[in-house]
Amino acid sequence: MLGLNPRDELDDEAGRIEALIRLDAATSSSEASFDHITKLLQIALEMEMVTISLVGVDKQTFKACQGLDLTESPREIAFCNIAIRSYEPLIIEDTHQDARVKNNPLVTGSLFLRSYIGAPLTTADGYNLGTICAFDSRPRRFTARESEMIIKCAELVVNQLELRSQAKLDFLTGVLNRRSFASELEREMARLKRRPGKAVVAFLDIDHFKRVNDTFGHPVGDIVLREFAGIVASQCRQNDLLARVGGEEFAVLLPDTDLESAQIWAERTRKQVAETRFDDNDDLRVTVSLGLVEFTEKQTSADVITSMADRTLYQAKRQGRNRVVT
Ligand code: GH3
Ligand code: MG
Ligand code: MG
Repeated sequence: MLGLNPRDELDDEAGRIEALIRLDAATSSSEASFDHITKLLQIALEMEMVTISLVGVDKQTFKACQGLDLTESPREIAFCNIAIRSYEPLIIEDTHQDARVKNNPLVTGSLFLRSYIGAPLTTADGYNLGTICAFDSRPRRFTARESEMIIKCAELVVNQLELRSQAKLDFLTGVLNRRSFASELEREMARLKRRPGKAVVAFLDIDHFKRVNDTFGHPVGDIVLREFAGIVASQCRQNDLLARVGGEEFAVLLPDTDLESAQIWAERTRKQVAETRFDDNDDLRVTVSLGLVEFTEKQTSADVITSMADRTLYQAKRQGRNRVVT
């Protein structure tokens, strides 16, 4: 696959888990598009149960379920855990005749599974995130056509996961877009309610960016925006979230951070931007203004947080740009 030895990806469990996180695949919230695919397969194969199962570190999470009311189950007994070891569908026509699963608790009790077909959900870079699978309490045969059908359903699921994750990103820079930043901020506020603490939102606006476009042209302006996002990202920690919230405006959410350490981060970022030659051009330099605001579990409105950050950013502009204001 993709000129790589398939075994490399199948053995790379850490990379597989990273791919799950990258696609934000393992959240079990129900989404209609995934339900449609499982429903279609249930009808086409005439099987009792169909699920989309994402195999995480120690459990499988069901993204969609037909004929079964479950959101997750332990990984070690999952048939899907066998199915993700291959790029071909796993077909078990009679569980009682298959040494791999005949003593599995899903066969001997609870669901009394007799037949199973599961196609791996393979990402473009060769990781098997889980499966789409169908199972039944009766043994049965599977035709080549049915096997092909489930492979196509698996491709639809992966497509859907990838589209969904792309919709969260800004097209030009690849960082989060404005809408996903807003929902991440809501999520952080909810997290603080459960575990009180501090977080910071920083707004960043490139200074006199219009001049860059006017002098070097819009395409070069785009390069500057991309490189700028890269510089800010390089100053962020793993849990910080960077978004492009407007043309040349960015926002960073710094969880578990107080204003003092955020200021150190902001100053470092400001300096790094000012010292950078963009597009490998000595004459192409920009500066950035930053507005910071700290919030805690007591803050109940995301709009208040963003308008405060906006206000501090405006002060940074008024005070002469290329500075951090809190
Ligand atoms: P200030 O220091 O006050 O922020 O000045 P500014 O010139 O950066 O601000 P202004 O809001 O006047 O101009 C922003 C410019 O950003 C104008 C617009 O053409 C440019 N811009 C917005 N989105 C994009 C984009 O996607 N690509 C490029 N190349 N330019 C963009
Ligand atoms: Mg602006
Ligand atoms: Mg600007």
